[in-house]
Amino acid sequence: MDPVLNFVDGSFLPANTGLTLETINPATGAVLTTLPRSDQTDVDNATKAAMAAAPKWASTPIDERIHWLQRLADALEEEAETVAQLESMDTGKPISLALRVDATRSVANFRFFAEHGLRHEDATFISNGATNHVHRKPVGVVGLITPWNLPLYLLTWKVAPALLMGNAIVAKPSELTPLTANHLAKVMHRIGFPPGVFNLVHGLGHEVGQAIVEHADIRAISFTGGTATGKIVAATAAPLFKKISLELGGKNATIVLKDAPFDDMMEGIVRASFTNSGQVCLCGSRLLVHASIYEAFREKFVAAVEGIVVGDPQIETTVMGSVISKEHQAKVESYIDLGIEEGGVVLTGGKACDAPVQGVPASAAFLRPTVFEGLSHEARTAREEIFGPVVTLHAFQTEEEAIAIANATQYGLAGSVWTGDVERGHAFAQRLETGIVWVNTWLNRDLRTPFGGVKDSGVGREGGDWSMNFFSELTNICVQQP
Ligand code: NDP
Repeated sequence: MDPVLNFVDGSFLPANTGLTLETINPATGAVLTTLPRSDQTDVDNATKAAMAAAPKWASTPIDERIHWLQRLADALEEEAETVAQLESMDTGKPISLALRVDATRSVANFRFFAEHGLRHEDATFISNGATNHVHRKPVGVVGLITPWNLPLYLLTWKVAPALLMGNAIVAKPSELTPLTANHLAKVMHRIGFPPGVFNLVHGLGHEVGQAIVEHADIRAISFTGGTATGKIVAATAAPLFKKISLELGGKNATIVLKDAPFDDMMEGIVRASFTNSGQVCLCGSRLLVHASIYEAFREKFVAAVEGIVVGDPQIETTVMGSVISKEHQAKVESYIDLGIEEGGVVLTGGKACDAPVQGVPASAAFLRPTVFEGLSHEARTAREEIFGPVVTLHAFQTEEEAIAIANATQYGLAGSVWTGDVERGHAFAQRLETGIVWVNTWLNRDLRTPFGGVKDSGVGREGGDWSMNFFSELTNICVQQP
């Protein structure tokens, strides 16, 4: 595979220092290729290119910008198989998941914002004999920083609205998963997208990411990643008065109410727990079940989890691939040790050596889905974000208790409620301190809706009008009528 390069002003370039990093397929341990280990000077160059391209892009009529989004969607769609392959190799996720979610939803992001832009009309308000016209202007150059779990999907979720609103971009994907961002740059190059409007700088977070957040000419930062990194980003950007959007970590609760016909819902509950090896910020890693159905539920849940096909991501029937890296595997395993120390019982799964996945090389980062019971909801294993295939089971007696447990965490990203009575589920959902709640479903996304968390799960919302607002500056012009 060719080395990954930075994409600056429409050209593919190595880092100024000439240094590189390696990207590894975590399902085999093999080095896939190298990527630039860029530094502040590369960010400076990318920002200069973006500054130079920004005025022309900003004055390009919105219909033309929408046309570019549609062309990008078409071009990515034609290459969906390649995108899925690259994403699967870079992350260790099953090819079927990469095609269904990463490749498909990346295209959908461009299509959605193209259509949303077409439908959008700026507001006017008439009062006191005057008309107020709300005008949108681009922010200018925006910085986009994204994680490794859904690399292209989360990048395009930011790129599409940023371009729609007329901004130029300096983006940094996770150094662990640079391949599909690089592919997006190649697609842009191939279709003749205006140079300098989209720039990509690869490298380490504390070097490239930090330089983007610190750069005086980058006026907004849209960041998705962990809460600890989000704190650094917020602390750096706040004194510079940048706009910031922070989509951070979670410790989401999946709540099964007493009346839930859980046999019918089991597939959804298992998916909510273990999709992408639990490495989706929206996965439910705390499973709260009414005490009256706890034992019956546990038996069915553990059986369903044991039915998850873990193995080679390249095989169509594989449901769960590897985790992102050996380092991450070690982190998840340290939480499995902690869970046992804290008094938890492993019902299925465990550390790689306790529950090996047959046929995978020792250099690969595989874990089986792991289910704990017997932990207090205050245990660290049940409070801290593990971001891997580990779920803790907890019984509750009353709905009040379930709400209290669900809300007893620093996070507030998402949750799901499972019940036979949707009215009850809706009422219950309103008492959860989270930005997103699903009732009897999970990861069912309408891109017009607000997406984001409360508490330590983030600041701001993305999606539909919320993304358009973030990526624009609003001016109100009040015209007195004659
Ligand atoms: P990190 O916070 O480690 O990294 C996220 C991005 O930030 C990476 O590109 C990283 O670079 C970069 N970065 C690291 N340090 C800095 C810095 N000082 N300044 C600027 N950028 C920096 O998260 P992970 O990649 O480990 O992703 C997992 C986390 O993301 C989980 O906590 C998960 O919950 C969260 N997440 C949240 C989502 C949401 O919508 N709320 C969605 C998906 C994930 P690099 O890694 O290359 O060094």
